[in-house]
Amino acid sequence: PGDVDPGAGYGYPGELAATLIAENALQEKIRALAAAVAADHDSEQPPLLVCVLKGAVMFVTDFARAMPIPCELEFMAVSSYGSATSSSGVVRILKDLDRDITGRRVVIVEDIIDSGLTLSWLLKNLASRGPAAIDVVALLRKPEAVKVEVEVRYIGFDIPTDFVVGYGLDFAERYRDLPFVGLLGEHMYR
Ligand code: 5GP
Ligand code: MG
Ligand code: MG
Repeated sequence: PGDVDPGAGYGYPGELAATLIAENALQEKIRALAAAVAADHDSEQPPLLVCVLKGAVMFVTDFARAMPIPCELEFMAVSSYGSATSSSGVVRILKDLDRDITGRRVVIVEDIIDSGLTLSWLLKNLASRGPAAIDVVALLRKPEAVKVEVEVRYIGFDIPTDFVVGYGLDFAERYRDLPFVGLLGEHMYR
């Protein structure tokens, strides 16, 4: 009950198999993550949040608003070549940061770590720009799928390897607007 068709009320009837992480669970976790990151920073050196577009956009807006200390926002867009549901590790910058990050404490805000290839490329790229520190906060991680070890300090949820959508995550640009994370019905991509 309550989860008969999670996408129906949002214009996606019959497309999602189930809710994986409900809206209230997401919001509760985001408040905890914001408190944890804030505890490791201070107002003297406010963290520079680097949101990785587009998937992390919902996460960063809720996360920034849950932070009990000031933070600044930057956006970066990268594309990682591969099929629709997996990445190859070949990364291209679609939109770079607007600012120099030299001496800044950077916190990369990611939606999901699957193979870890995109993030490991991004960490190297940003590290070469001379920040004071770089940490990563990722809302979701698929532990079984990690191909490269990446140091991620703050993790929201470890999830199974199934393809998920919602809360910023898309399949062919759809479903980003859902306020929860759900499992896409297999009939939608198989
Ligand atoms: P990685 O390079 O870690 O394999 O993949 C990172 C990117 O692939 C994520 O930022 C996300 O855009 C996409 N991705 C990986 N797993 C999923 C998933 O289950 N659902 C969706 N919608 N995108 C995913
Ligand atoms: Mg991402
Ligand atoms: Mg995508």
